[in-house]
Amino acid sequence: MSYVDEVFDMVVAKNPAQPEFHQAVKEVLESLRVVIEANEEAYRKDALLERLVTPERQLLFRVPWVDDEGQVQVNNGFRVQFNSAIGPYKGGLRLHPSVNLGIIKFLGFEQIFKNSLTGLPIGGGKGGSDFDPKGKSDREVMAFCQSFITELYKYIGADTDVPAGDIGTGAREIGYMYGQYKRLTGLYEGVLTGKGLTFGGSLARTEATGYGLLYLTEEMLKCNGKDIQGKVVAVSGSGNVAIYASQKAQQLGAKVVTVSDSTGWVYDPEGIDVELLKEVKEVKRARLTEYAAARPSAQYHEGKGVWTVKCDVALPCATQNELDLEDAKTLVANGCFAVAEGANMPTTLEATEYLQKNGVLFCPGKAANAGGVATSALEMSQNSERLSWTFQEVDSKLKSIMVNIFHNLDDAAKKYGMEGNYVAGANIAGFLKVAEAMTAQGVV
Ligand code: NDP
Repeated sequence: MSYVDEVFDMVVAKNPAQPEFHQAVKEVLESLRVVIEANEEAYRKDALLERLVTPERQLLFRVPWVDDEGQVQVNNGFRVQFNSAIGPYKGGLRLHPSVNLGIIKFLGFEQIFKNSLTGLPIGGGKGGSDFDPKGKSDREVMAFCQSFITELYKYIGADTDVPAGDIGTGAREIGYMYGQYKRLTGLYEGVLTGKGLTFGGSLARTEATGYGLLYLTEEMLKCNGKDIQGKVVAVSGSGNVAIYASQKAQQLGAKVVTVSDSTGWVYDPEGIDVELLKEVKEVKRARLTEYAAARPSAQYHEGKGVWTVKCDVALPCATQNELDLEDAKTLVANGCFAVAEGANMPTTLEATEYLQKNGVLFCPGKAANAGGVATSALEMSQNSERLSWTFQEVDSKLKSIMVNIFHNLDDAAKKYGMEGNYVAGANIAGFLKVAEAMTAQGVV
């Protein structure tokens, strides 16, 4: 049996009931097969793949807090410090009822390669909780965040592990967490990113993942003789990534016609009104029914359905496995020619294969949504320098990072005889740097 297959079987056996983690490992190892097989003996002797798929540290902890009725609630807290070969652990905190260890491990594993692709010195980690901030009062969210950090603060720090936002963790949650960290440690340091602008946050961090997704998509289309201008774009999700992806797509001359949330979706043939969407989602924290109620051209539909709309470009920006094989078939039948993942692993393995086989340009999340973590790393740099860069400075650095990422993965795919396979290109380019650092640092 080949080394790659042996390690994949080991991952499944040693990590039962973690299907998302298995899926993420399978995608990466399949792409790396050609690289590993060229150097199999050395990698096997060093157990490089076994070390790569095993987190350096996994923290699981209790998060007790008191709700507004005086009732004690208990959630599970997680932080997986996956790989620090090229820098301190870096990755977001997800707050969503679906969170479990397998999901955090899949996200942390992906983060290793994503962070490597940015070209910045950051290792891979991820964390979160099954706490649901939706429907909670500000005081309840604060009570949860303070309790979460009261345990986690022992394991994080500006030079060891720097968490950030993710689903359910926005500026409000990061603010409460930062306040509690500072109170417990007495340190005013860049331990979290996505902070408010008055206490060390970076301009353009809020926009970074969505904007970065469009900078990369624009470059991918350009290098394939196409232009984003005038194209019809389907976006899923209506959170941080979806909102700023829609905004930048429209600034680049495309028309975004859909957004969604976990209960339904909106089709707006005149183009999504981003300011209205921001008001509904960022200010009122309301459902998309409110968007549709305020916008005569918009139609609201319950359930799933964004990918049934005819589009040129699809940008899944909600959550994992939200675009399956049936959706991929519909997109291809409707003439969609490019898919770039704003979310982490939103496309199933079967759907990805189908899109690639049918000539759709496909860029995986670990490259396409790396703008968020890249700008988080720029926030870390500003914090250590005690400086704040302008919006334009950060945005132009972000743009050049995204363009470079695309060329790195394009070059890696070509070098290994898989031209146009950006999944393989991203995994190979991300892996080579981490593998070299791990080898140089010995058996740790
Ligand atoms: P938000 O919490 O701001 O928004 C998430 C969006 O996805 C919401 O519209 C939410 O709907 C929807 N959603 C969440 N879970 C589900 C589900 N199970 N089924 C259907 N819809 C769902 O998160 P972000 O925009 O920050 O994150 C979106 C994706 O992008 C995630 O995969 C995240 O890991 C990834 N990402 C985010 C980065 C960032 O900088 N924020 C960086 C890189 C990746 P509802 O409001 O109804 O729950």
